[in-house]
Amino acid sequence: MRLWVSFLLLIFLGIGFLLSQPRIETWRIIDLTHTLSPGIPVWPGNPPFELKNLARHDQGYYANAFSCAEHTGTHIDAPVHFISQQRYASDIPALNLVGEARVIDIRRAVSKNPDYALTSRDVLDHEARFGTIPPRSFVIARTGWEERWSRPKDYVNQDEGGVMHFPGFSPDAIALLLTRGINGVGIDTLSIDPGPSKDFAAHKVLLKAGKIAIENLTNLRELPPRGASLIVGALKIREGSGAPARVFALIRQ
Ligand SMILES: [Zn+2]
Repeated sequence: MRLWVSFLLLIFLGIGFLLSQPRIETWRIIDLTHTLSPGIPVWPGNPPFELKNLARHDQGYYANAFSCAEHTGTHIDAPVHFISQQRYASDIPALNLVGEARVIDIRRAVSKNPDYALTSRDVLDHEARFGTIPPRSFVIARTGWEERWSRPKDYVNQDEGGVMHFPGFSPDAIALLLTRGINGVGIDTLSIDPGPSKDFAAHKVLLKAGKIAIENLTNLRELPPRGASLIVGALKIREGSGAPARVFALIRQ
């Protein structure tokens, strides 16, 4: 009998020991960043991305200099981009560059209207299915536009009059998202305002509140509607209106 008791005690102790061990958590990491290279789509009038060689291996090492506009490739818009007195790229706290990603899929609406602007209704529908958007999150519009990235003309999508056509956010949706305390919004197009916009109303509402926009995202198909964590590694450019960024999503497995 006493042997049985000792045996059970040993088993309980063993289980307790195993449970007390730190759990190894694994993360799946998704890169939401386009590769910077000459020939990528840029905002009309902006200079192209350029790489100039400084040294080659036969000279001892390999190195280049690059040049581009701040709003090239996957990048952020700092609040000062449209609002004077607001933050420069270098002044955005790191805390504002990390948060939960919420992904709103508007591909169906975009297939009928390339100038579609994500609405407050789209936000509320998302919340009805996936819960209220938490503070410090990044709300990302998945428009399907990233499929055009390798065809710059189709990505910028200018008509004969030079007017661009691609989807974005409505200012009403941005205003609603601000009540949730978001860190910012993101999109897989050139701009968070739809292509034809002249007043950049979505930008102004968002940036006035000191939040950031992330533009030209990619690989959004890899993201769940909620639960991924976003790290927005934007370059810390002093007095920058924005900056190229390496954007990662971390998904707990
Ligand atoms: Zn921008």
